[in-house]
Amino acid sequence: MTEGPRSVTILGATGSIGASTLDLIEREPERFRVRALTAARSVDKLADAARRTRAERAVILDPALYAELKDALSGSGVEAAAGEGAIVEAAAMGADWTMAAIVGTAGLKPVMAALEQGETVALANKEALVSAGALMTRTATEHGATLLPVDSEHNAVFQCFPHGSAERVRKVILTASGGPFRSLTREQMAGMTPAQAVKHPNWSMGAKISVDSATLMNKGLELIEAFHLFPVGADRLDVLVHPQSVVHSMVEYVDGSVLAQLGTPDMRTPIAHTLAWPDRMETPCPRLDLAAIGRLDFQAPDFDRFPALGLAMDAMREGGAAPAILNAANEIAVAAFLAGRIGFLDIALIVAKVRDSYIAIRPGSIEDVLAIDAEARVRACAFVESLAR
Ligand code: NAD
Ligand code: MG
Repeated sequence: MTEGPRSVTILGATGSIGASTLDLIEREPERFRVRALTAARSVDKLADAARRTRAERAVILDPALYAELKDALSGSGVEAAAGEGAIVEAAAMGADWTMAAIVGTAGLKPVMAALEQGETVALANKEALVSAGALMTRTATEHGATLLPVDSEHNAVFQCFPHGSAERVRKVILTASGGPFRSLTREQMAGMTPAQAVKHPNWSMGAKISVDSATLMNKGLELIEAFHLFPVGADRLDVLVHPQSVVHSMVEYVDGSVLAQLGTPDMRTPIAHTLAWPDRMETPCPRLDLAAIGRLDFQAPDFDRFPALGLAMDAMREGGAAPAILNAANEIAVAAFLAGRIGFLDIALIVAKVRDSYIAIRPGSIEDVLAIDAEARVRACAFVESLAR
């Protein structure tokens, strides 16, 4: 680690992951120096965090909120900026460590800009990697950037994985809590409301990923994420339902050894792992008490009740633009579900309809990915309209 405080930037500083990241760095102010914080629309939260951490710059997505942000920061010495381009610029300022915690493919350009600086990027924003995995990992390699997974499963695998000898791995096993509807029938799921879908049994997270956890699309996106992060190939990636979310994931070796990383379900543990890596740091997370938990359960995933998982697996195997299309359609469908416009089961239905409307295409650049993403959104919106109540 470099001498003196490490500079950090948080893209998506006002979200669930952003708040957990701020919590950790604010506990050790002498160790970290904040360069930029960004947010979509929460001016007060952003300005407050920027003042507390004495950030160099705070950036809000919506240009209409620039004056409000500037006002909220007056006298603080924090520079205010607004707009999509300003978020990318903030990422390109460069920091020793950047947290990519924007939700959705909206985070793609900023995360690419951060990778191009050649420093460390802690990645929570799985949709970016799902949509543009090959381009992102290539950019990281070309610029000598270090991509560290924040997603709890991938962080667990990262901790158990034999870097440089992937051929010794028989399986990478991602655990899944099964979400709030794990035991429901399809008929019961059909009537589930947004409020019920975002009530995750173990984790406290943003609305979009919470719905993804209820459909199991989250685990599907995570399979694609793992495909890009760990070079074992699609056939050696598995999902195992584990309702307690204590075993965060596992790596099975050719000799039969299975290594797992365990912990309480608190995102500050994997975030701290990436923040201190290759060292370790203290966190205030509750300690794991296995005697109190008593038992850990595991079961195979049910592809019939959770079709999103199969859709994502198909996209992973197909490659090319399929994951970007899957992700874009899902983002639109989840937003429509959260807005009360479509039912819970319509989410996977729309993703399947959008997929079936395509023939194979292959993106060659980030611009291609963004164009494919935009087109898939238009198609998904049309299906939303046809199903909307
Ligand atoms: P969230 O909704 O709580 O926060 C999202 C952040 O991104 C906010 O700061 C918001 O202002 C910003 N944002 C939203 N739309 C934007 C846009 N169009 N442009 C720029 N900024 C925008 O989400 P979250 O739960 O913190 O999740 C963030 C990412 O991390 C997601 O990709 C999610 O899948 C992933 N992730 C989250 C968790 C978790 O526990 N919350 C765990 C694993 C992975
Ligand atoms: Mg996860």
